[in-house]
Amino acid sequence: MEASGMRSLNCPVCDGKVDVPEDALEGELFECGSCGAQLEYYLEGERPKLKMAEEVAEDWGE
Ligand SMILES: [Zn+2]
Repeated sequence: MEASGMRSLNCPVCDGKVDVPEDALEGELFECGSCGAQLEYYLEGERPKLKMAEEVAEDWGE
């Protein structure tokens, strides 16, 4: 077993690599170091994946 506890997932936007701790929780947000996208960690079955995070409740109303 590796001691690092990190795994590399692919950014769905630019296909770059994003390091995610193995003990990350579903719903945690990470930023892609390549394109700056906000990515949400989730599990598809048992496979860890990243998807574009929803825009977080910024109030656009003026
Ligand atoms: Zn990216």
